Amino acid sequence: MKVFFIGAGPGDPELITLKGLNCIKKADIIIYAGSLVNQEILQYGSPQIPVFDSSGMDYKEICRIYAENREKEGIIARIHTGDPSVYGAIQEQIDFCRGENIPWEVIPGVSSFQAAAAAIGQELTLPGVSQTVVLSRISGRTAVPEKESLEKIAASRPSLILFLSISQIEKICAVLAPIYGENTICVIVYRASWPDEQIIMGTLEDMAVRVEKAGITRQALIMVGEVFRAQKESFFYEFSKLYDPEYFHGWRKGSTKS
Ligand code: SAH
Repeated sequence: MKVFFIGAGPGDPELITLKGLNCIKKADIIIYAGSLVNQEILQYGSPQIPVFDSSGMDYKEICRIYAENREKEGIIARIHTGDPSVYGAIQEQIDFCRGENIPWEVIPGVSSFQAAAAAIGQELTLPGVSQTVVLSRISGRTAVPEKESLEKIAASRPSLILFLSISQIEKICAVLAPIYGENTICVIVYRASWPDEQIIMGTLEDMAVRVEKAGITRQALIMVGEVFRAQKESFFYEFSKLYDPEYFHGWRKGSTKS
């Protein structure tokens, strides 16, 4: 069987790709990440097939399913949350498949950071403000290499999105406030695109208190950066060249000043 690593999207079942959904419809075995993948997606699978929740399995158990079914025809749909390239733990599964000559393919998905930006109507790359998005996390059970400490990655004040870090919001705000400025807007999105999504807007100064009051301890993203001023103010950035009437590009002739 061929293993498809499928990004299920951030929660809303309509945010899976057509390719991912078609793959689930045809699957002979489904393995899904039970903690974050919306189970509604599973109903598209055939009712007769085995379905495994990977949250109760270890690496070897998952790989055993790939290996045991290697000689059979068909598809294993390995469903990951968001996009599998971000904190997806797919590399070791791909390496296993490579080593065992098991065919595999990755089908990308909408990441939760994209759903969070969509939820608040926010472009993360505003000309003249920031053209760089940094996806990171703070050390937890998985340590972040020292060269990527929060101070270091924040030094250029990019649009910063932190995964897997909400439980350490107080420490994060304390580190970031002197770098970005304590009045810099910080946005927390809890369960982006799920029916119980919550958005908390604040600053680096007050966000830790707001998060504590809301009781959010997991499944949330922390977003910080000057671009988020757009949540309160309009037109503080430069307009994109893409729609600039003065700008020529391949498909559209710009008007020239006379
Ligand atoms: N591959 C996933 C990330 C998995 S790591 C992706 O692309 O989104 C799990 C972390 O992702 C969570 O701790 C949380 O920080 C974030 N996350 C996942 N889904 C989320 C959602 N719907 N809303 C907010 N954060 C989410």
